[in-house]
Amino acid sequence: MAKTQLDYAPAPESRSVVDIKPSYGLFIDGEFRDTESGRHFKTISPSTEEVLAEIAEANDADVDLAVKAARRAYTRVWSKMSGAERGKYLFRIARILQERAREFAVLESIDNGKPIKETRDVDVPIAAAHFFYYAGWADKLSYAGYGENPQPLGVAGQVIPWNFPLLMLAWKIAPALAAGNTVVLKPAETTPLTALLFAEICQQADLPPGVVNILTGAGDTGRAIVAHPDVDKVAFTGSTEVGRMIAKTVAGTDKRVTLELGGKAANIVFDDAPVDQAVEGIVNGIFFNQGHVCCAGSRLLVQESVADEVLTRLKRRMKSLRVGDPLDKNTDIGAINSAEQLAKIRELSAIGEAEGAERWSPKCDLPSAGFWFPPTIFTGVSQAHRIAREEIFGPVLSVLTFRTPKEAVEKANNTPFGLSAGVWTDKGSLILWMASQLRAGVVWSNTFNRFDPASPFGGYKESGYGREGGRHGLEAYLR
Ligand code: NAP
Ligand code: MG
Repeated sequence: MAKTQLDYAPAPESRSVVDIKPSYGLFIDGEFRDTESGRHFKTISPSTEEVLAEIAEANDADVDLAVKAARRAYTRVWSKMSGAERGKYLFRIARILQERAREFAVLESIDNGKPIKETRDVDVPIAAAHFFYYAGWADKLSYAGYGENPQPLGVAGQVIPWNFPLLMLAWKIAPALAAGNTVVLKPAETTPLTALLFAEICQQADLPPGVVNILTGAGDTGRAIVAHPDVDKVAFTGSTEVGRMIAKTVAGTDKRVTLELGGKAANIVFDDAPVDQAVEGIVNGIFFNQGHVCCAGSRLLVQESVADEVLTRLKRRMKSLRVGDPLDKNTDIGAINSAEQLAKIRELSAIGEAEGAERWSPKCDLPSAGFWFPPTIFTGVSQAHRIAREEIFGPVLSVLTFRTPKEAVEKANNTPFGLSAGVWTDKGSLILWMASQLRAGVVWSNTFNRFDPASPFGGYKESGYGREGGRHGLEAYLR
């Protein structure tokens, strides 16, 4: 049988750079301490199911201690400090993140399952870039366009998901601190380790105690943070379902809230697009980070006249994707983050077949332990199919076709979400027209999944409200 890809020798990144402790406490008031609940849970490596560490599960009493520590730090230290001084701490954190980048990249790959190529080249460098970027704003808040002397809000309660653990932490903590707020942050249950390593960095940077507090736990811990009466601002990234619950909890209080929720982005390929580049963009759009990306290009809309050509080249490209060990530098697609997420991907894919769409994956040998799903495309998908409407949050692409730009816009906008979109064409005028028509917070043209700390990010409709990143990201943390 003809080989579809070259055999590469294994090229594993060494684990020796990380030191995973057998157990971790909560980071409150600048110190690690055990939980008042006495309860712990385990975090595992999704690529092997190996138990990595025992993690403290914060309860209401811990949340109260952390919020009190954050309030003290806010009133006595952080809100009194000049912006230039706060900026120094943020620059210091950014530099330490860079110095310890390899450690963070390896740890993130182990705990999350994503390929080292991505943690090394995307997650960690962009997380450091966020701290550098907002460090620069700390002493220039009066020039941010929010009045002459904008004031911080106070204590921010922040809850983040598992798909970009360190990067989402950076998106949340960097602007909050730059604006003079203190924070209580909860990482996701399946990916707590880089947040706990970040807590060590706060100690290393001599950040005043209580400015950053990290509480590990599951949904109940998140709920307690959101509901705590002394939290002034709630920042959440996660599912639309939990976002709705949070909106209800804070309704009628004077808490400010930003919600970054789900998506079902259209990646739209016109007949004059450079096909090979578009195929790379489609692959990056849906298979980057195993498709665990809120802005993933999970709906491919391809112009009918080039659909066959694009699909042929896409399938050929997919045969060369390497699925496997996240720590191998050749790996393109790592492990699915959890058994629950794998079950959800399998269920929606089965529904896709049952509804009549045609499923295709390249032949790939999946490891026997751990959670894996091959890169998959569905053709013959209609607008009504659940795989075209619901977020699968996995390496699964639904392919639809269109004939005219108007039809592409109608199909792209026919979704309850509105986070991102992609447009592939040679015509600048068509790009601008499409961008003006698409109801999505971010529209990429002739590229996809590009992130920059200077550029705001956020959604329309059920994808949430508020913007993160850039100057706009400061607004959520200023009065
Ligand atoms: P999720 O279930 O909503 O969880 C997100 C976070 O909220 C986790 O830390 C979770 O804790 C916590 N949580 C669960 N229930 C809670 C409650 N009742 N109150 C407060 N916090 C609660 O979402 P997920 O499945 O982990 O993440 C995937 C979703 O995030 C996708 O829909 C994706 O599109 C979205 N996402 C959006 C963006 C964006 O910027 N728009 C970025 C990334 C991801 P545990 O997980 O520890 O239980
Ligand atoms: Mg884990």
